[in-house]
Amino acid sequence: MRFFSLVLLFACSIFALDIKVANATVSNGKTALLEFKKESSISYKNIVVDKQRYEIFNNPLDSKKFYVLIPINYYEKPSDKKVEIFYTQDNELKSKTIFFDIKDANYEKETLSVDSSKVILSENDRKRASKEYAEAMEIYNKKTEHSYISSEFIVPLNSKITSDFGKARVYNGSLKGYHGGTDFRASDGTPLMASNSGKIVLAKDRFYSGGSVVIDHGHGIYSCYFHMSKLDVKEGDMIRRGEPIGLSGSSGRVTGPHLHFGIRVAAQQVDPLQFIELINKNLLKGIK
Ligand SMILES: [Zn+2]
Repeated sequence: MRFFSLVLLFACSIFALDIKVANATVSNGKTALLEFKKESSISYKNIVVDKQRYEIFNNPLDSKKFYVLIPINYYEKPSDKKVEIFYTQDNELKSKTIFFDIKDANYEKETLSVDSSKVILSENDRKRASKEYAEAMEIYNKKTEHSYISSEFIVPLNSKITSDFGKARVYNGSLKGYHGGTDFRASDGTPLMASNSGKIVLAKDRFYSGGSVVIDHGHGIYSCYFHMSKLDVKEGDMIRRGEPIGLSGSSGRVTGPHLHFGIRVAAQQVDPLQFIELINKNLLKGIK
């Protein structure tokens, strides 16, 4: 009997961490996902990547599981990325190290030559745009402890993609950022749906993104809908997945009507379609 319990104890300490790495190979601009099974002797704390701490949250749809999302910065170079998982076992703080293989997503480059006078903003526009940027970043940096996620994420409309996430933009020979979302073909006035349930945390007209809606899904996940012609929601409203948020348009700094759809995870812009596929196939699997 004693021998048996010793063996059992030994087995427990080896297999104590039940971690599922959804994607150990991940490219810049994409999201990585780790899932943990709840075990009575273990309390998960957080994970640390490059001194940045990421919170481990309860799976919104399964109380026996935890998860953490790690957004890989767009400018991250290929490397073996060290990921430290902190947890306590028998009141002792422990850590386990795993590695992610960061690959180059090889995003396309888009070269634009523009009349420089057209990109110089007036003092008022510049002030407005930087105020709006600061306001948005303050929102994206908040991690609501509660998750509003009710089921799988959906795209806001069924339409052709006209511009992928990540395209590098070279203006007059110099690199000036990248495309931070996915563009969908949408003529003026196309109804748009909430990608998942959440709280409307931004609903207003902005200089660059025009008619803009941002939904807080909880746990530091936000979805963004830009260049809209009509907003049917206001800040503070609660929304369910698939409910209408307004109509697409061509407001803000755009050349024509379309929907720009974005996802933020822990304040970072990530590829929205890869995020949706990853989270639906793993964390939210089977929950329609
Ligand atoms: Zn766009």
